Amino acid sequence: MSLPSCDILIQGGGPVGLACAAWTLQKFPDAKITLLDRNPINDDDLTNADSRGIALSHGSKLLLDTIHAWPNESAQIHRVHVSQAGRFGRALMTREELKQEALGHIIRYRDIHINLRHALRAIKAKSPNFAWEHINKDAEENNIHANCIVHAEGGLFKTQDWVESGRDYGQSALVGLVEVENAVPHQAWERFTAEGPLAVLPSHYGHNILNLVWCGSPESSQYRLQLSDSEFLSALEKEFGSRIGRFLKIQDRRLYELGLNYRKELTKDNEVWIGNAAQTLHPVAGQGLNLGLRDAFLLAEKLVGAFSGFEPSPSKIQDALQGYAQSRKVDRTTTIGLTDFMARVFTSNLAPVVAARGLALSALQWLPPVKTALARQMMFGRR
Ligand SMILES: Cc1cc2nc3c(=O)[nH]c(=O)nc-3n(C[C@H](O)[C@H](O)[C@H](O)COP(=O)(O)OP(=O)(O)OC[C@H]3O[C@@H](n4cnc5c(N)ncnc54)[C@H](O)[C@@H]3O)c2cc1C
Repeated sequence: MSLPSCDILIQGGGPVGLACAAWTLQKFPDAKITLLDRNPINDDDLTNADSRGIALSHGSKLLLDTIHAWPNESAQIHRVHVSQAGRFGRALMTREELKQEALGHIIRYRDIHINLRHALRAIKAKSPNFAWEHINKDAEENNIHANCIVHAEGGLFKTQDWVESGRDYGQSALVGLVEVENAVPHQAWERFTAEGPLAVLPSHYGHNILNLVWCGSPESSQYRLQLSDSEFLSALEKEFGSRIGRFLKIQDRRLYELGLNYRKELTKDNEVWIGNAAQTLHPVAGQGLNLGLRDAFLLAEKLVGAFSGFEPSPSKIQDALQGYAQSRKVDRTTTIGLTDFMARVFTSNLAPVVAARGLALSALQWLPPVKTALARQMMFGRR
């Protein structure tokens, strides 16, 4: 395939690549951008795609609002209840104590994806030099000449063709939609079990239909995937207890392998990596896409700075990308570190770790400043 040259080539039309294109063009409509997208042109072909519930922070909502990409169908989280199965220690975070309208929002992956496509189409109408190319996965390599290449190819753990630093937690996530009798509206539950975190989160389908994310060993997760619905619900009730209400129905079960894979360097010459192409995280803290959107927003600012003036020199482009990498250091390191810490500490069964974990949850409950600091990091990241 042969396409004209461009200033900025964005590879990957997932949420992060789309958002990066949209924020750059919104500020600089004349930008010469080409977006390579492996997804189908028609949104209807995505409506049966990935329906897993993603927790987006209030900070991400504010960012997506700037390009009118916030989906209509979302569920707010007003309270988060954190506990560990069969051990002491629990914490409750509420929107009132954090003085926020919501602690987070749950949205289906495909709705975020489709809404970002709508937002980018609206911006495209005013962007004469923007080319949005849909490509076939099996097509030949492209030979586009670009002054700057943004990698937003994303991907899930173990499906990526690069492995750099990280950790295999030996866990899979079983996700699905579970119906609960008389669920508390807008409440999210996170329970740390011997095999991994188990989260039950609100959904836009109604108060009693909740998103389930059950992390466990790959073998147990595979076993649970194959259980009959009634066997699955009994196993879930045994692990979760009765606090949430009776589990009535399960649907749309899917498995994802989990791990940490991150690049030490975010740039090389005129190339830069963002979103899951830069770091792929365990979903325990619901941070992957939130971090990726912040990547996209800040990179867009740097790209506008580099390309909106006179013809940019290679050194000016490299300076801009290095400035980007520098500006992402603290947020990225903190988010990766916090997520990795939670994924490991909350699955350890060593007695001292179990005791420390209980104390940490109690401390969170009784030390409001610690709770607020943690919640702020989750909601807005670090700048
Ligand atoms: C079970 C689970 C639960 C999660 N929960 C949360 C959560 O609650 N909160 C949160 O913030 N994050 C969560 N995440 C993480 C989140 O899904 C990712 O961080 C997010 O999808 C990353 O977006 P992305 O655009 O970088 O990558 P992707 O979503 O992977 O999109 C990349 C796109 O690029 C395309 N592509 C790939 N290669 C090429 C190529 N060579 N050329 C062109 N296109 C290409 C792909 O087809 C794809 O469409 C969760 C992840 C999992 C697995």
